[in-house]
Parts: sequence; structure tokens; C-alpha cells
Amino acid sequence: MPDFACLSCGACCAAFRVDFHRADLATGELPGVPAELTVPLTATLVRLRGTDEAPPRCVALEGEIGKKVRCTIYQQRPGPCRDFAPYAPLGIGDDACDRARRRHGLPPLAL
Ligand code: SF4
Ligand code: SF4
Repeated sequence: MPDFACLSCGACCAAFRVDFHRADLATGELPGVPAELTVPLTATLVRLRGTDEAPPRCVALEGEIGKKVRCTIYQQRPGPCRDFAPYAPLGIGDDACDRARRRHGLPPLAL
């Protein structure tokens, strides 16, 4: 979460299931998502722990939604997190970002 909009939001980390390929997991040699933060889904997919709970919230998220948050694995976050609302760091949301924010009573990002 590189900018002010996301650092004071975090809604998408507590709105959707986050599934990704095991290739994004840390290995002995390569950095990646710590396996203990995930649950296995299939032979090739894992899910970020907490994102399928009710209410959902990724275990890697610290802080209070809509106030001040931090992804504790930001540099190693998986593909779906890297790809989500790519212009939000510039203050430009999209449909998915708007939906996540709405679920937490937050307005769409202003352009
Ligand atoms: S919902 Fe949008 S503004 Fe909020 S953290 Fe996610 S990408 Fe950033
Ligand atoms: S890994 Fe980080 S960016 Fe991805 S859902 Fe969890 S807290 Fe959010």
C-alpha cells in the first residue's frame, strides 16, 4: 500500500477471498508469501488466511480499516494484491476498489 489513499483504507484486504498460485509462496531461496499465512486450496492454489472468514480480513493486514492500515508483507504480497486497482496509489479507484470501500462505508476514491 504505497500511498495515502490505501494507507488510510485497507478495505480490499477485508472484502474478498484472495487466492493465488503456490509460485508466489516463499521458498528456502526465494522471498514470497509465508506459507503459514495461507491455507491450501488445491495442488496449485492457496488462499490468504482470513480472507474467507465472515467478515473477511487478511491476516497480513494491520490496523483499522478506513483509518490507518499496513500490509505486513507488502514487498512479498501475492499477484492478486499487486494487480488490484492498479491506479489506486494515484488516487484513482475502479469498480472493485469502489465495491470494497462501499462494504466498509467508505466513499469511492476521488479522481
Ligand atoms: S480498496 Fe482501493 S483505496 Fe482501499 S486499499 Fe484497496 S485499492 Fe487502496
Ligand atoms: S497480503 Fe497485504 S495487500 Fe494482500 S490482502 Fe493481505 S494485507 Fe492486503
